[in-house]
Amino acid sequence: MSELFSAIVGHTRVKELLVRAARGTPSHSYLFFGPEGVGKMLMARAFVRALVCPKAIDGCQCPSCRLVEAGTHPDLRLLSLGDESIKLEETRHLRKSSMMSPILSPYHINVIDQADRLTAEACASLLKLLEEPPLAVVNILVSARPDALPATIRSRCLEIPFGYLSRVDLTAHLEARGVGSSLRSRGDALPEPELLARVAGGRMGEALRWNEPEAWKRRRRYLEISWEVAAGTPSFDQSDAILKEKDKRAAVDFLRTLYCAWRDLSLWCIEPQAVINTDQTQHLAQIATRRSYVVWASGCRLIEDVLGLTTSPVNMGMLLPVLLFQLSTSGTSRVLHEDTGPTLKQGN
Ligand SMILES: [Zn+2]
Repeated sequence: MSELFSAIVGHTRVKELLVRAARGTPSHSYLFFGPEGVGKMLMARAFVRALVCPKAIDGCQCPSCRLVEAGTHPDLRLLSLGDESIKLEETRHLRKSSMMSPILSPYHINVIDQADRLTAEACASLLKLLEEPPLAVVNILVSARPDALPATIRSRCLEIPFGYLSRVDLTAHLEARGVGSSLRSRGDALPEPELLARVAGGRMGEALRWNEPEAWKRRRRYLEISWEVAAGTPSFDQSDAILKEKDKRAAVDFLRTLYCAWRDLSLWCIEPQAVINTDQTQHLAQIATRRSYVVWASGCRLIEDVLGLTTSPVNMGMLLPVLLFQLSTSGTSRVLHEDTGPTLKQGN
């Protein structure tokens, strides 16, 4: 919980609102919602720092601030369970401890990351805390899927929407953090912050994930496959290798990379400065003119359709090779038969 408002780039209006709240009278409950990886938890951390100690907005090392940094502040509770559900015992404990007076800070502060993972019972227990909050309590719920939260919970929270960061803001943020240097020091061809910001699509979390040497190598491999498919010479062994990684995340990463490649191919002849993969212009120049804009654009929609299916229990092992075959031949169509399971049909 050691982030400071001064270190956060972008989300200016949200930041201003929260700084004012921390200096004045904060609401009892907030819901920070927006796409994954855009910095909602970073902002929650900065807000916590400012609530615990007003001086922390510009940096402070008082005992209370140091305890927040160490994650041992007695008035602070963080529920963050990753992929697991947040269960009744956790919210019940949260409620109980919120009833007591805060010890060092003006508030008890409860942060619930991925609040959409609350079980129904945990929601009911949390609702009591939101409906009748003790005076000195601030709850911060964070979610990328706010629709999964009950309306009763949402209606008790001040909703704070987060959008994607602009490329300029994200690049500035990455530069300020020295991101890209881990790859640079190994002598790898490296994502400059600006390229990383393009690839991450306005999501700080994505930029940090791609900034790992292994991840960046994977991106290159995914792009190689994409160019082979685009050139009409796909190697299906490679798509098999992706599927053998047995990680749904790998399939999603591959599909997103494939989508960006197709998007770039569709833009190359009309707006080359708007491409994402600025390190791949040689491939784009070689391949883009081989098919029409309409064909590349319809390929984008096809990939989007398949990406949309990755959240449901589909058999990627069957779907991915069919998709690659379809993309490698010209004149794709986007017919998905939901009644018989996801299959792709050869179009005109
Ligand atoms: Zn302080």
